[in-house]
Amino acid sequence: MAVSVNKDKCIGCAACTQVCSQSFQMAQDGKAEVVAESECAPNAAAACPAKAITVE
Ligand code: SF4
Repeated sequence: MAVSVNKDKCIGCAACTQVCSQSFQMAQDGKAEVVAESECAPNAAAACPAKAITVE
């Protein structure tokens, strides 16, 4: 599994960190960043309103 956040798309809503704190945290720039791969990453991708998360 490869998890990534497209920072150009991310609007900093923090939904991904609430759905899957194991994989995402908010970075200094106010956008999400990946901290680890986890089973809930696909749920966060589905919850992201900006479609900024890719899970492959
Ligand atoms: S849910 Fe999407 S738009 Fe919101 S902070 Fe996470 S990556 Fe960014």
